Amino acid sequence: MKIAEIQNDSIIINEAPSLTLNNRKGAIAQVLGCGLCGSDIVKFVHKLSPDGTVPGHEIVARITEIDSVTDFKTGDVILSSHHVPCGKCSFCKNGNESMCLQFKNTNIEPGGFSEYIYLSDEHLKNVAYKKPENLSDEEAAFYEPLGCCVRAIRRTCLPEGSSALVIGLGSIGNIMAQALNAFGVKAAGFDLKRERMDILENIWNSEPGETFTPHAELSPYDAVFMTSGADAAIETALKSVRDGGKIIVFSSTPKNSGYVNNEIYYRELTVTGSYSPAPEDLKTSLNLLASGKVNVKNLSEVYDFEDINQAFKDAIANKVFKAYIKIVNHPIKELR
Ligand SMILES: [Zn+2]
Ligand SMILES: [Zn+2]
Repeated sequence: MKIAEIQNDSIIINEAPSLTLNNRKGAIAQVLGCGLCGSDIVKFVHKLSPDGTVPGHEIVARITEIDSVTDFKTGDVILSSHHVPCGKCSFCKNGNESMCLQFKNTNIEPGGFSEYIYLSDEHLKNVAYKKPENLSDEEAAFYEPLGCCVRAIRRTCLPEGSSALVIGLGSIGNIMAQALNAFGVKAAGFDLKRERMDILENIWNSEPGETFTPHAELSPYDAVFMTSGADAAIETALKSVRDGGKIIVFSSTPKNSGYVNNEIYYRELTVTGSYSPAPEDLKTSLNLLASGKVNVKNLSEVYDFEDINQAFKDAIANKVFKAYIKIVNHPIKELR
């Protein structure tokens, strides 16, 4: 089977031995496509992954072999996230599922940018769902990234009717703003690039009753969601949040940049990190996508597997909003 792996600071398509269950519980699935996540880009650019790593985790895949006591069967097209918390440890019990040791140690094998993957039984039982019929593959691939946004919103515990500013309107900021609205929070979005604000505005104005709120109108905000980690974004957050408000850190920043201690102290701000979704967040994400409450139509640029290098380049250069890599052009139709 073909895999895309990191080799000498580039992404190379290589042959790898084909996967079988080999007496393991779980499933082998043919990857139809996989979204390119900001975290894949960060790990690639900052050389955080060793050579041989297969990036990618925002998968849409068709089960080709299964041994699991679940409702899934061969031929099902599914969505799954890559990490599974244990649900029993003190991290999990305190709602820090993404810090759970099992969470950190589980992954899809070898990675999403591969023709086939292995999903463990834990994946199938906790974080996998059948792809809703009304979503295209590239829309459904927002399942995991939107789960991250849902988690961030949950961790902020905002009462309905609160106001929030989303700073950075790449694809994540865009779906964060839409998800906030779906949770009853009045959201505004801000990005230095005007065209990114226009994209969000168009999505909102296409729905009856939903209108885009310009940044200044609601300021200062009960909460500010940081999907951009630029120093200027931190400044904007501190200026935009109300006294006693919340800042949600949702992206990495250049080393040594951060929030000024005395701003947090005297203004009684809450600064909260939010990293990766728990099973409950993923379930909500799927509902938001399937119901159309979060609209991801036309947000992705689709690339063929052979062009994955270009997808990385375009994403790094900020040329595309979201890259989705189509891995199988002709999926297996008949499976026994
Ligand atoms: Zn992701
Ligand atoms: Zn745990």
